[in-house]
Amino acid sequence: MSRISDRITELTAALPKGVRLVAVSKFHPVESVKEAYNVGQRRFGESRADELAAKAAAMPADVEWHFIGHLQTNKVRKVVAVASVIESIDSERLLRLVDSEARRIDKHIDVLLQVHVAAEESKTGMTPDELLAAARSTAGNLTHARIAGVMGMATNTDDSNRIRADFRAIAQTAARLRDLIPAATEISMGMSGDRQIAVDEGSTMVRIGSDIFGPRPAKV
Ligand SMILES: *Cc1c(COP(=O)(O)O)cnc(C)c1O
Repeated sequence: MSRISDRITELTAALPKGVRLVAVSKFHPVESVKEAYNVGQRRFGESRADELAAKAAAMPADVEWHFIGHLQTNKVRKVVAVASVIESIDSERLLRLVDSEARRIDKHIDVLLQVHVAAEESKTGMTPDELLAAARSTAGNLTHARIAGVMGMATNTDDSNRIRADFRAIAQTAARLRDLIPAATEISMGMSGDRQIAVDEGSTMVRIGSDIFGPRPAKV
């Protein structure tokens, strides 16, 4: 077996029940996605609208595409058309836009609200309070976007205490969101380098790229 299929098989076996694997295929060729698909992987993560659309067109229809990158307003249409889940809702405005585009094409779509807890300013997402305010003020007026939980990233650091604290803050935000929306049970957290800590802290969905596909080719 080649490395990609081995890694999918190993990771799937290693994850506890209730933790799903999103294989982050961004910047990797569609041949790599097919290799993962052929050993049963169906959930893939992409961070750019054009790349997502091209891969979705090249892959079977039963792939569940997760959009995990910063979503610009002018790309909402393209992403809503093919994604099953948009994990990176980083403002109330974007949430409303996704809902109205989904309504326009009469498609129900799951969304995760992205929370920012990491040290880096460059990372996107709402503060926990902004996130809860967005959920509160849209409650009852979303018709096609379903808030399914939260997504977040830990600080990029070797300090495992800081990483753990970040994941706890994400999980706490998820718990506060569940008080408003009981069905919002998903906690998408954990990447190649910090997956185990995320699982310990209650992740329901890990997003793994380089551990499956190897180092990413340079962005083009
Ligand atoms: C790229 C990316 C990942 C995957 O990162 P790896 O370190 O390669 O596992 C996960 N989540 C988001 C939001 C990403 O942009």
